Amino acid sequence: MNWFAPFSCPYLFSFSTNFLCIFYENGLYLTQFILFLYFMERNYGFMEKIASFTIDHIKLQPGIYVSRRDTVGQEVITTFDLRMTSPNDEPVMNTAEVHTIEHLGATFLRNHPDYKDKTIYFGPMGCRTGFYLLLAGEYTSQDIVPLMIRMFEFIRDYRDEVPGASPRDCGNYLDMNLGMANYLAKKYLEQVLYHIDDSRLNYPV
Ligand SMILES: [Zn+2]
Repeated sequence: MNWFAPFSCPYLFSFSTNFLCIFYENGLYLTQFILFLYFMERNYGFMEKIASFTIDHIKLQPGIYVSRRDTVGQEVITTFDLRMTSPNDEPVMNTAEVHTIEHLGATFLRNHPDYKDKTIYFGPMGCRTGFYLLLAGEYTSQDIVPLMIRMFEFIRDYRDEVPGASPRDCGNYLDMNLGMANYLAKKYLEQVLYHIDDSRLNYPV
């Protein structure tokens, strides 16, 4: 297609040709517009909000929530949102303790006899209110409560050198705060995990 055709048309002399050209131009603009819509839909899906942005964060309390279940080939992957602080309501975690929890949580999961092969990803939310955990398989939030209790007890009680906190293993190895990681794990256990109920296991609708 000649994309410049609409601009060249007004310079034609013949009225009839010009007249036809207007329709032709409009046809071209319409074609371009339809192609533009097709391109946007194909590449950006009209920039739909991703699922976790559609949750009302104002009502959100710390808990364990399933935010997605995706089918990849034959396998279902469940994404959990491990919310540790109430968004827009209390201070977020600082990066050093988030980083430490990431290292300890990943170490725990990658060494777990049942979950090491099911763990796809564990890492922090950009807003620093919690973590994402992706597991191979179809789960409910309730299914992983015992696993999360064991993981956060591990983080709460950990006093040794943080695994992977060395310049060879990590991109920012000095940015660690084990004391705050211990404290936040204890808080999450006592305020949420030890007596979790449906209100902290399902996103508010
Ligand atoms: Zn690191």
